[in-house]
Amino acid sequence: MSRPSSWSIGRHRPRAEAPLTGYKIAYPMISADARRAGFNGVALGRTQVYGGVADAVCIQSPRHRPPSSWCDCGFYCFHDLDDARDLACDPQYQHCVLLEIAASGRFVRYELGLRYARQTIRSVRLGRCGCGRAATALADGGPGVVGWRRLHPVCGLCAGPRPVLTPEAFGVLCGHVPVRGDEAVDDPAAAVFAPLDGVGGDGDLDEGTLVPLLTAEVALLQARLDQVQSRLEQLTHRSE
Ligand SMILES: [Zn+2]
Ligand SMILES: [Zn+2]
Repeated sequence: MSRPSSWSIGRHRPRAEAPLTGYKIAYPMISADARRAGFNGVALGRTQVYGGVADAVCIQSPRHRPPSSWCDCGFYCFHDLDDARDLACDPQYQHCVLLEIAASGRFVRYELGLRYARQTIRSVRLGRCGCGRAATALADGGPGVVGWRRLHPVCGLCAGPRPVLTPEAFGVLCGHVPVRGDEAVDDPAAAVFAPLDGVGGDGDLDEGTLVPLLTAEVALLQARLDQVQSRLEQLTHRSE
């Protein structure tokens, strides 16, 4: 994760005595053979995918161990879940999930978070589908990296007939990490969005909206009927 510019200079400490809790965002990934799942960082180390437990590696130099004071290597996390949620609103990080992690080993402490050597993922929160509803599954998404495909958190409606990975199945492939929805998405107090009246039924749609909608539906039906008709003809001819 990139270090936000508002982070102050860190104080270097040799090691964490006990694991420290942190929060971050990452892209969920699945291996090309669909046997493993993991995460891709959002800025540094974008070519690497890490699993449930991982040690940071420096892509600039193999001669030091992350987190080096002279380098920006290492894993990054925030102290607060809300800071990770805020970062997930940035358009370039759409389709990320929220990770709760335990940081261990050497670390550098900043005002907003940590840069550290070893990471254990404690849980994954799926957050929102691109349509704004709570995401309930993971579907094949955008660009991947060599050996890994990127997944997008989706709701049931947007997933449609696409095959999806359930949160449980994804968690198992990550090494038995709990995966769930984000309580901030489900929170009724935050539910200021509601479906528009008339969507899903035609009760409140005026004629100007309804006519093009119906015309489009009729055109679709007609195309489907033509398909069925030609298929029937093929079958009839074959059996003659
Ligand atoms: Zn480094
Ligand atoms: Zn959706």
